[in-house]
Amino acid sequence: MIPVNQPLLEGNEKKYLAECIDTGWISSEGPFVTRFEEQMAAAVGRRHGIAVCNGTAALEAAVAALDLQPGDEVVMPAFAIISCAMAVVRCGCVPVLVDSDPVNWNVDTGKLREKLEQEIGKNGNRRIKAIMAVHIYGLPTDMDPILEMADRYGLAIIEDAAEMHGQSYKGRPCGSFGALSTFSFYPNKHITTGEGGMLLTDDDALAERCRSLRNLCFQGGRRFVHEELGYNFRMSNLQAAVGVAQLERLEAFVARKRRMGRRYTEGLAGVEGLELMPERTSYAENIYWVYGVVLKDEVPFDAAAAMSRLAERGIGSRPFFWPMHEQPVFRRMGLFKNQTFPVSERLARRGFYLPSGLALSAEQADEVTEAVKRLMKDEGVAK
Ligand SMILES: *Cc1c(COP(=O)(O)O)cnc(C)c1O
Repeated sequence: MIPVNQPLLEGNEKKYLAECIDTGWISSEGPFVTRFEEQMAAAVGRRHGIAVCNGTAALEAAVAALDLQPGDEVVMPAFAIISCAMAVVRCGCVPVLVDSDPVNWNVDTGKLREKLEQEIGKNGNRRIKAIMAVHIYGLPTDMDPILEMADRYGLAIIEDAAEMHGQSYKGRPCGSFGALSTFSFYPNKHITTGEGGMLLTDDDALAERCRSLRNLCFQGGRRFVHEELGYNFRMSNLQAAVGVAQLERLEAFVARKRRMGRRYTEGLAGVEGLELMPERTSYAENIYWVYGVVLKDEVPFDAAAAMSRLAERGIGSRPFFWPMHEQPVFRRMGLFKNQTFPVSERLARRGFYLPSGLALSAEQADEVTEAVKRLMKDEGVAK
């Protein structure tokens, strides 16, 4: 079986972990946490890094740090991981969804503009307070229009850069945009700590606020007396030790993923029935967080069928995100009633991704390519 993901842990991970054990520093108080925060911030050109226990927690802390009022609204893509909408809902706020671009799968900035013009410009909706910009699968969201609209309407930006380690937008690092940005270090991201996440910001007050939220809102004066409810979102020194070792290899990791992406594209380019990831846009070169494919409409089966047939051939794969407006949990809460986002719906049903981990060898990628080709041929889609 070729697994859908396998991380590469061949640098200083063991050495730094041994340091944690040898010194006894294993909690979030250990020195690797600050080191990792400083190095991540430096890599992205931000003033502050706040390490947390995962990328979802980073998003929750980011939304909480903005001090929105219950009922305030945050605009985001319908096609994203549930963490994005969940962070907003958990703060008593409401996600406002926008459909995606059918080619690069990021939010459709034309539709985002229409939505804001309609809601704020025409309807005078004053509840919209922020935009969550979520970079999807390897190409960044087109940030310029988002920055311009945020500026025009006075909206905060949270940048979810969970999949964008080492990526840049028009030469500016992803994770450097907006009031706050967030990263994840889950094992399928370009940099992993097993579980982990980080908030980045240039704003001293927001950084302080995130540190406080991360650590139960402890305050000065009498310890264990609290004015506010925070979270325990702390990252351990063990996780940060792995992160520091991983970060040393970020450039090599990005180069490796790009080689993988190009190899898949070369191998699959001629196969009928498949839409492949663009290698670049006018503003960025793909870093292939995962290598996604979308079955064209004429293909007589969906992503779920393709994935189970690939599994029979020993190839792991994963479905695309499921859009927020079709999440049963949000439907039950009465959210997104009668809303449709056709591009997101299609991506969820026709899209899936192939084995894309950093440990994937060129030979394995070729084996996957052959299996996909055979599948399409056996099903009568390709000749
Ligand atoms: C992975 C991911 C997250 C969540 O990160 P976890 O560490 O798994 O909680 C959030 N947003 C996006 C876009 C992601 O890809």
